Amino acid sequence: MNAGNKQVPEKKVLEAITPKSQDISRWYTDVVLKARLADYAPIKGCMVIRPYGYAVWENVQRILDEKFKGLGHQNAYFPLFIPESFLVKEAEHVEGFAPEVAWVTQAGKDPLEERLAIRPTSEAIIGHMYAKWIESYRDLPLLINQWANVVRWEKVTRPFLRTTEFLWQEGHTAHRSHEDANFEVRQMLEVYRSFVENDLAIPVVSGRKTQREKFAGALDTFTIEALMPDGQALQSGTSHDLGQNFAKAFNINFLDSDGERKLAWTTSWGMSTRIIGAIIMTHGDDRGLRFPPHVAPIQAVIVPVVYKEPGLILEKAREIKTRLAKNGVRIHLDDRDSFKPGWKYSEYEMMGVPLRIEIGQKDIEKKQICIVRRDNLEKSFIPDSELEETVERLLDAVQKNLYAQAKTALFEKIFPADSFEKLREIIKDKHGMASVSWCGSEKCEEQFKTETGATVRCIQEDSSQGNCVVCGSSAKGKVFVARCY
Ligand SMILES: [Zn+2]
Repeated sequence: MNAGNKQVPEKKVLEAITPKSQDISRWYTDVVLKARLADYAPIKGCMVIRPYGYAVWENVQRILDEKFKGLGHQNAYFPLFIPESFLVKEAEHVEGFAPEVAWVTQAGKDPLEERLAIRPTSEAIIGHMYAKWIESYRDLPLLINQWANVVRWEKVTRPFLRTTEFLWQEGHTAHRSHEDANFEVRQMLEVYRSFVENDLAIPVVSGRKTQREKFAGALDTFTIEALMPDGQALQSGTSHDLGQNFAKAFNINFLDSDGERKLAWTTSWGMSTRIIGAIIMTHGDDRGLRFPPHVAPIQAVIVPVVYKEPGLILEKAREIKTRLAKNGVRIHLDDRDSFKPGWKYSEYEMMGVPLRIEIGQKDIEKKQICIVRRDNLEKSFIPDSELEETVERLLDAVQKNLYAQAKTALFEKIFPADSFEKLREIIKDKHGMASVSWCGSEKCEEQFKTETGATVRCIQEDSSQGNCVVCGSSAKGKVFVARCY
């Protein structure tokens, strides 16, 4: 290009995103990239979490961390590397994770004497340390959580939903009795359920995993499962009863009050950055994201509507910002003059900011403020003097409405099925989740997968009057069956 003929840079125009109603998969990629939540990394299967996306994770962390600590857990940090000899100690555990473990075999120019796994999860290294730290019943329960990254070499990846490296928290606890451990497992599942429903506004179903679907090395796994609009379930948080399996493998024993040496009972539980994928999928619409206020990086944005005299309007906008910030609202003032108000409206709608505050000359004259909700695009004019309380009330209303909408959508997608034909129709045509009676056999469980591509997401009830939809023999219980991410 001719240097003397310098072109005026084109104004950035809001690029269209694929409507969610048209193609949810493309829509998902579009919003993740265009809202700058994440970007593809130059390493296959890895993503870069950008500041706007990382802010969501920080809010998730802050809320969960407070809950964990409130129940007596403490944070600690364990190494990224796990010696191979540790990983192989629990046979089922290593077998379950082997296909996706990344190994370090060399340091500088020298091959290592023993391969080191990059942690896919930390039971092995933590089990080793717990054996060292626990001596008597007085050391129990031991309640530790770790915020960390883990690596699982995945074949197919999608930002947040499935990435080779991801962030998570993993709680690891040791107890004196199975009863205590079991209480912990259920308590933490309930922490996840209430967090996901109340703070992320995502309704879930919960229950025990089948033996086939449980965590490798666990006695039992409990899960909360959300259902995405495309009918695929997303495992959103799991809590594992590890029984004495890891205590045996790593020799975690303690001297009990009766003078006997006993094996401890351990648990682990985790939630990861894939939950951000669930927030995006559940709440977004054709215009883009819709963040639930509890975890929205920006809860309200102020857009000054400036045409000629900016001074007075900007002054007012700054005053609003100060007042709301003082009230604890995560507030952003967009005072860039290189973008028109209308452009900004679409931009923040796409970014899912729950409330937009518009302030112009007329509003100042009338001592009013204009607020637009992202969830239903409802616009209201409120007296200036009622700003703080109205914003608080509207944020709460958006949070509740998103949950109500998601709950309706979930119930519309769960269907009972009393035959295999019905089950197939629910999975394949209705893109839903089926509630069916099942005899409990692995053979019939396998049939769900081979015939429909769906799996048992969790056990809904431990008893059932009906017959197994696969083999027709009397059922042991009811299960939720769906395809999954
Ligand atoms: Zn059966």
